[in-house]
Amino acid sequence: MGPTRLLYLEDMQRLEAEAAVQVVLDLDDGRTAVLLDQTVFYPQGGGQPSDMGVLEAADARFEVQDVRLREGIVYHIGRFETGRFEPGQTVRLRVDAGRRRLHDRLHSAGHLIDVALRNLGWHLVPGKGYHFPDGPYVEYMGVLPKEDEKAIRQRLEAECNRLIQTGSVVTVRFVAPDEVETLCGYVPDYIPREGPVRVVFVAGPLGCPCGGTHVRDIREIGRLRILKVRVSGGRTRVRYAVED
Ligand SMILES: [Zn+2]
Repeated sequence: MGPTRLLYLEDMQRLEAEAAVQVVLDLDDGRTAVLLDQTVFYPQGGGQPSDMGVLEAADARFEVQDVRLREGIVYHIGRFETGRFEPGQTVRLRVDAGRRRLHDRLHSAGHLIDVALRNLGWHLVPGKGYHFPDGPYVEYMGVLPKEDEKAIRQRLEAECNRLIQTGSVVTVRFVAPDEVETLCGYVPDYIPREGPVRVVFVAGPLGCPCGGTHVRDIREIGRLRILKVRVSGGRTRVRYAVED
């Protein structure tokens, strides 16, 4: 069995598709994993939570509660509400749109903070991002100038919301690894040495290597709030939230 084709890498807005069942696997914890030839479901990773949703056939329905990626293969984990799939069968995939939309907004907001920091002349190197709804943050190598935290927070929040109000269509490009430094301004250690690298541009000319899903236009983020800017151990962590 080959790797699962990840449809969301090319079309992040697509939430429905058809796919062929490869394997139905009963797990030790009582749940079941369904493996498909292709998927629109986002597996947890890169700081973004997994999608949920349903897989349906004429006489069977599977609730997807968690999605994981292992060695190129996507595991749709959950339980059958009715019936069961057979290998080779075609099923209809439907991602929970409300949950995905929130994840898109939180993920794009994280990238937008990178852009806003650069626009303000603070050139920090992006590190870890945590785009989960329960306390999202982005972390940078480097520290902000010794202004007080409140002033930094206010300037950063204002710049983020200025960008959101201006609007910008999020774009994706697949590029050679040696193009990443020019396009992104830095090279993270997690990018593959061979094969194309997916670079996401949320606003402005600088991109960021990313495998996640995003809003179509940054206007959809809504209002972005900067909750806290913490500088410690040579790193800066920015906690944020999105509001309607
Ligand atoms: Zn990302």
